[in-house]
Amino acid sequence: MKLWLTDEGIDRAKLDQVIAIQWAKAEGVKAKNKPKSQALFYSLMANYFQNTKNASESGDAWVLHTTSVPVEVFTSMGLPSILGPLSSSSILRSLKLQPECFQAADEIGLNYGICNGHRSQVGIFLRGWFPRPSCVINLNGSQCDNVAKTLGIVAYVYNVPEFFLDVPYFYSDRGVAYLANEIKKMIHFLEEVTHHRMDWAKLEEACHISNRMARLSSEIGRLAHRVPCPMDSRSGGQQYLIHWMYAGQPEGLKFFEALRDEVRARADQGIGVHPNEKHRLMSVFLPHGNPRILDWMRQEKGAVVVSEPYYFCWKDEELDPSKPLEFLARRMYNDPLHLFAGGRVFEDRLLDRLVQEAKDSKAHGAIDWANIAGCRNHCSLGRPIREALKEKAGIPVGLVDVDLNDQSQAGEDLAKEKLETFFELLESWTK
Ligand code: SF4
Repeated sequence: MKLWLTDEGIDRAKLDQVIAIQWAKAEGVKAKNKPKSQALFYSLMANYFQNTKNASESGDAWVLHTTSVPVEVFTSMGLPSILGPLSSSSILRSLKLQPECFQAADEIGLNYGICNGHRSQVGIFLRGWFPRPSCVINLNGSQCDNVAKTLGIVAYVYNVPEFFLDVPYFYSDRGVAYLANEIKKMIHFLEEVTHHRMDWAKLEEACHISNRMARLSSEIGRLAHRVPCPMDSRSGGQQYLIHWMYAGQPEGLKFFEALRDEVRARADQGIGVHPNEKHRLMSVFLPHGNPRILDWMRQEKGAVVVSEPYYFCWKDEELDPSKPLEFLARRMYNDPLHLFAGGRVFEDRLLDRLVQEAKDSKAHGAIDWANIAGCRNHCSLGRPIREALKEKAGIPVGLVDVDLNDQSQAGEDLAKEKLETFFELLESWTK
C-alpha cells in the first residue's frame, strides 16, 4: 500500500484557519483586558504556526518533531519547527475534525488503544492537512512507544528523512555524554538535510535563556503554593506549552517573566484567583483535551490548582549553559515531565518529592487525570502516586478519566460528575 502524499494532496487551508483562530483569541484576550501573559500566550501560538507557514510557502526548511526534543537547536540554526502533537491537537480542536482524522488513522490500523494524542497526529498528516516538513525528529525520551514511533509514520507518508534521538534511560555522566553526542549527530543531520548551519554562539545564548525559563517556571510553581493561590489553574499547561515551543528564545522568556510578575503581584497582595478558595488541589497530569474544566472547577466549585509536579518540579540541579550540548542533555533529564512521565518515578526519590510538594502547597487533595486511551506510561504510575499521596501526605486522590483529543471517549459531563463526588469526599475528609 503506497501512502506517500504528493504536493497536490496537501491542503494548506487548515493551517491558515488555525492561525486565524489563534490571532482572534489573542485579540479577544486583549479586548477583555486579561493579564498580559494571556495575550502573549495566544500571539505566540499564532506566530509559531505562522513561521512554519511562511517557511513552507517560501520553500525554506522547517522541522517537525516530537515531544521533549531540545528546540534550542532549531532556533540556533534559523529553522522554524513544529511540535507534532501540538499541530494535530490545534487543528482537531479548532476545526472539530476528530471523526475524519480518527477514521484516517483507523484505515492504516492505528485503532483505539493507541494514545489519541498521537493517533490524531497520524490522521492529520495522512489527510494532508499540514504542509510537508523538511525532516522529522523523533526520540524515545519519555519511554512512550507513541512518542517514539508515530512521527516515523508521518516521515514515511510525507516521504522525508527522519532522525531518531536515542535517549539513555538512566541519568548518569555516561548517559549524558552519550546523549550530548546524539544531539551533535542530530545537528549534523539537520545541516545536511536543510543546508542551514549551526550558529554555536547563538546556541550558547539559547541555553542561557532556557536555563532562565526553567528557573522562572520553578519560581511560579512555588508562588502557586501560597494561600490563597495566586495562579490561574490553566497557567501550568500554558507555561509548559511555551517551554516546548519557545525554549531558548527571547519571546518565550518574555512570556515566563510576564506570568511570574502577575502571579508574584497577586501573591504579594494576598489576592487569590478565587475570592473564596475552597479546595486546594494538586493536579497530576492535566485535562489536556478539555482545559475548560479547570475554569468550571474554579468558578463553580472554588477548586484551585496549587501544585503541578509534572510541569513545575524541575530537578534541583545547577546546569552550565556555557557547555551547550551537555546542558541540553542534562536539561532533558531535569525536565519535570520527563522525570515523571519517563518511568523514572522510583529513581531519585520522586515519590518523596511529590509528597513534599503536596505538603508545601497545603493541598487538600489531588486529581489524577488518567488518559484512558492507551497510556501505559502515566496510568501505570497512577497507583504508586496515589498510594504515596494518601499514606505519606494524608490526602485523597480522585481519579478522573480524560482523553487527549477525543471527547466522545471521556466527556465533560462524566468528568464533572466524578469531580463533584470527589469534592464531597474532600469536605468530609478535611472536617
Ligand atoms: S499520554 Fe501517555 S501514551 Fe500518550 S503520549 Fe503521553 S505518555 Fe504517551
